[in-house]
Amino acid sequence: MHASLLAALCISALPVRAQNEPVRVIAFGAHPDDCDLGAGGLAAKYAALGYKVKFVSLTNGDAGHQSQGGGQLAMRRRAEAQEAGRRIGIEYEVLDNHDGRLLPTLDVREQVIREIRQWKADIVIAPRPNDYHPDHRYTGVLVQDASYMVIVPNLVTDTPALRRNPVFLYYSDRFTRPQAFRADIVVSIDDVYLKKVDMLDAHVSQFYEWLPWTEGQLADVPKDPVARKTWLATNPLAISQVKPEWREALEKRYGAAAAAVQHAEAFEITEYGRQPSEDEIRVLFPFFPKK
Ligand SMILES: [Zn+2]
Repeated sequence: MHASLLAALCISALPVRAQNEPVRVIAFGAHPDDCDLGAGGLAAKYAALGYKVKFVSLTNGDAGHQSQGGGQLAMRRRAEAQEAGRRIGIEYEVLDNHDGRLLPTLDVREQVIREIRQWKADIVIAPRPNDYHPDHRYTGVLVQDASYMVIVPNLVTDTPALRRNPVFLYYSDRFTRPQAFRADIVVSIDDVYLKKVDMLDAHVSQFYEWLPWTEGQLADVPKDPVARKTWLATNPLAISQVKPEWREALEKRYGAAAAAVQHAEAFEITEYGRQPSEDEIRVLFPFFPKK
């Protein structure tokens, strides 16, 4: 396709508003708990406004555990994801691709295109394709490869194409090569931080079993369900603390109120979806103090 036509399709001249009212958001992760860590607070804020949020795990989580695996673990992970979604009022779908074996195939790309189209998404969130885990990397590639294709009617013809390319965002991460994450949008989650912890707490097999085991901290996890949730709320895994490099974007939109923000989630706007103006960002993220 000609580059100028491509630009015209991506930078739409349509008025500044979301594709849908209320805004519809879909987030992808490789494993049941990835979306929760990256955007659980944002999702809780949207859900509280009555906006529609869906989390999708591209794999069924049937490998990442020290003592369980296969179909039994997949069933457990799916139930945990359903419970996590229920706790903050969003949908949660776990696709049946194998954990630890995800590849950026045409088949999985089409699964992603269908999900975005069926959800009629205004915003799509995914990991960057730079990460320690191959499933995370390929989730980033798969969503990147679906962006733009979601508006092409001749592809995946069983699901109607979107008329407007959504805004595609990356979750924050710590990886610096080939380039570091850039915080374009930083949202305070102080008001929903305990809700986010409550959501993570539903993933028992992850936060109280597998992840502590990989860190050699399994013995530190309290046995009591109330005590372990308190432990999780102060664990670096869950804490979502504002990073110094997020401050500029935080101050840009919160002004003087930024100084008091403790917990936040940050997102980078990818180059491959619609490029929102500042006015549209404030429509899509209706959380910032009015200018
Ligand atoms: Zn993961």
